[in-house]
Amino acid sequence: MEFEVTASRKRPQSLVELSGQDFVVATLKNSIESGRIAHAYLFSGPRGVGKTSSARILARSLNCEEGASITPCGVCSNCKEIARGNSMDVIEIDGASNTGVNDIREIKDEVLFGPGSSRYKIYIIDEVHMLSNSAFNALLKTIEEPPPYIIFIFATTEIHKVPATIRSRCQQFNFRLVELGEIKRLLSNVCEELSVKYDEDALFWIARESTGSVRDAYTLFDQIVSFSEGHITLDKIREKLGLIGMDQLNELMSFLVEEKQDESLELLDGILSGGVSVEQFIIDMAEYLRNILFIFHGVKKESLLGYTEDRFSSSVFENLNSRQIEWALEEVITLFRNIRYSLNPRFELELLISRLSSIRYHIDPKALLEELGRMKAQLGTAPMQAIPGEDLKKKN
Ligand SMILES: [Zn+2]
Repeated sequence: MEFEVTASRKRPQSLVELSGQDFVVATLKNSIESGRIAHAYLFSGPRGVGKTSSARILARSLNCEEGASITPCGVCSNCKEIARGNSMDVIEIDGASNTGVNDIREIKDEVLFGPGSSRYKIYIIDEVHMLSNSAFNALLKTIEEPPPYIIFIFATTEIHKVPATIRSRCQQFNFRLVELGEIKRLLSNVCEELSVKYDEDALFWIARESTGSVRDAYTLFDQIVSFSEGHITLDKIREKLGLIGMDQLNELMSFLVEEKQDESLELLDGILSGGVSVEQFIIDMAEYLRNILFIFHGVKKESLLGYTEDRFSSSVFENLNSRQIEWALEEVITLFRNIRYSLNPRFELELLISRLSSIRYHIDPKALLEELGRMKAQLGTAPMQAIPGEDLKKKN
């Protein structure tokens, strides 16, 4: 049976294909090429950035029949078995479900026997921080004096929960969140492989939504491809996933700037009737304001905004200042925090929109003080007759 090609089934096959982890790749490459192989590796970092994939790749790199290499052949029986997950010499253990000391004792006994058909016997322990203390202690004995053919590769999202005694005996690698531009590049590669057309801003949106996790990006991408009919666009994403369109946000913002409460509230009603949830509305609005704030502060990188600057309503920049946007964003974020306790989230959102329609008149205390200071200074330097009433006081 042939699987449908999807992005989330894509796995890097060698270290050179691993994205966004340049430091990890360079160090491992160096270690493999110089033959200085550690007996315990510890891969830490956020979820979905390639730790477990890297562990499997490293296992392949070390056990490929063609010799240890950062580009394992991928066709020898060792490479194939590791890829399928059924190599006798590469044992994957989920730390989350094998937390006890007995599981580790088994490893302690097993390591006495060398690998079957490979150079190394490799234990990949995922979520290693889940192991119990006694399990860690049992493990420690083994990694202190491992037989020369044993290699441990630990992976964890919570490095601080791994005892220092274990950490200090491992070569440590800190995996990072993958940059947005890099994720977008990966997605555009997948689009090419699948012959799917795409709009730049649509891929940007997916990349941004995945917040640095390649795995999340691929999962979301697959979902979006399934309804995109061969062409991924932001409009389709927004429609199918129930998000607010950029045009609607711009329109709303223009109404608010012009103090048009009635039109703002009607537009809000239209958007909510269209299937956008109150919560989603707040999230999209917060993101929109955050982007405006960035532009006010001179940050215009498309990879940070997800859009080019010209997609944002110019009336916002002409009529408001950054402090007013800060205030609006704060109001929106506060509402997001409070909404879960609300008896009627929709009413609260309507109240917020009504309040935001006075955004032009919003002045924060600091600006007010500065303005007062300026006025005071002007009065101080102005000639006396400029202040009506003062003359009268003197006469009396
Ligand atoms: Zn091979």
